[in-house]
Amino acid sequence: MNQGDVEIHDITMSFASNPVLRGVDMVIPQGKVSALLGANGAGKSTLIKVLSGVYPQHGGSVQIGGEPIHLGTPADSRSAGIETVHQRIDEGIIPGLSIAENLLFEQIVSGKIRKVASLRSMLKPAREVAQALQLDWSDSFLRKDVFELGIADKQMLTLARALSRYPKLLILDEPTSALSQAEVDRLFEVIRRLRDRGVAILYVSHRLGEIESLADNLVVLRDGAILGEQQAPFDWDVALTHMLGEQAIREMADFQEKRGSELCLSMKSIKLFQRSEPFDLGVNKGEVLGVVGLLGSGKSELARGIYGADKFLDGSMELGGAAFQPSTPAAAIKKKVYLIPEDRAAESMLPGWSIARTVSLPFLNQFSSGFVLSFTAERGEGQRIIDDLGVVATGPDQDVDALSGGNQQKIVVGRWLQGNPQLLLLDEPFRGVDIGARREISRKARSVAGEGNAVMVLTSDIDEALEVADRILVLVDGEARFDSYVSQTSREQILSKMSEVA
Ligand code: ADP
Ligand code: MG
Repeated sequence: MNQGDVEIHDITMSFASNPVLRGVDMVIPQGKVSALLGANGAGKSTLIKVLSGVYPQHGGSVQIGGEPIHLGTPADSRSAGIETVHQRIDEGIIPGLSIAENLLFEQIVSGKIRKVASLRSMLKPAREVAQALQLDWSDSFLRKDVFELGIADKQMLTLARALSRYPKLLILDEPTSALSQAEVDRLFEVIRRLRDRGVAILYVSHRLGEIESLADNLVVLRDGAILGEQQAPFDWDVALTHMLGEQAIREMADFQEKRGSELCLSMKSIKLFQRSEPFDLGVNKGEVLGVVGLLGSGKSELARGIYGADKFLDGSMELGGAAFQPSTPAAAIKKKVYLIPEDRAAESMLPGWSIARTVSLPFLNQFSSGFVLSFTAERGEGQRIIDDLGVVATGPDQDVDALSGGNQQKIVVGRWLQGNPQLLLLDEPFRGVDIGARREISRKARSVAGEGNAVMVLTSDIDEALEVADRILVLVDGEARFDSYVSQTSREQILSKMSEVA
């Protein structure tokens, strides 16, 4: 046992009689990166919040270097040497203050810097904090309101602030979900440096590649308990089985490619951008079409045009043989053409709404007689979606905001599936979603197609597309460049088509 090892013993935590952590035991050794892997809803964020003093009502105990520590408040946890960068970045950002003040927030709160101090006098210490991450932020930048920062920079800010306190235990909850590759590389460099300085690091992620390159140890959390502990090099089959269970692994078996023979949607001379050439596209009933392309290739424009959210610059469509010109999403929805948008949080979730209410949102008239909503019907549908898609939730009355990202995505998908889609469009459905949820959503998309409907999955990730699609369309600069059934092409060919320039 080393001086700085963190020992976690029998941690329990429940929300209203719903046990989320069921006795977590683990050691986070100093000078190592320990990865915590788990499906959405496993309890990772809750465990981290316990460690950061947010839930004083937890059971169990924590020791650092053999000394018991008290986790009654976030300040307790900090003074014991635990720093956390939370998954929801805004949890660490204080609105209404400058970037400099945000960097120095701990010192302002603890009285080390006086609140009345001028912003000018804060620039130098703020720069020092930022430099822990080699952030070259100029004075005029530091003076800006913190809300002018992009997501990646907010992430860097909260991390720089955490580092400035020389933590014994640094906890990172899915820190890379909003970062570019260059930013990820920079972050990993910092994490490795801290590890070599003897900090204990707990790294939460569901990206296996990241864990592979960064972590020394790996534990899996499933249903609130630790399952498999491993040291690098990791056996991923074992880790995935622990994470998802035998059942889910078996369901990962390859699917049979389907080819539809009947057109659902026929598109003629569709022009996506001013400078792009028009193209034709037929989307068949009974198959899943994966539309792949880089950012800006026109995937979202294509989806939004079909859904009536935007107009194509030129071209015409037929749906089931009849002219189809939706001028609004409502017109598309009436024809059972549904789009699950890329930004589910902004476009589809209403904070404070229950699962039941959220799923009934687009179909309110189905659940109402006159103007009286039928709560029983609504709750019944909510429960059905929870069961059908394996949503981890307390029940249909739970607020959607309390759900993890993958579970929110399942709710959004489930919501549209109730309406028996004729054509279902999924725009980046797997973003921020773990492998388990990704499987469930893919399985559901394939079963919608299996019932004779058409499904389009738009993604910039070839592997995601190959996991769900029968046929692949490659978009480049707003043009359809390549169209093939999956069995007649290869990952390499798709990749080379995707990165072709005009
Ligand atoms: P993870 O981070 O592994 O995805 P979480 O710790 O966020 O999982 O969630 C674990 C479970 O606890 C989920 O079922 C979630 O709905 C529930 N949960 C999390 N936070 C709350 C809360 N504040 N109130 C009620 N239930 C919650
Ligand atoms: Mg989480």
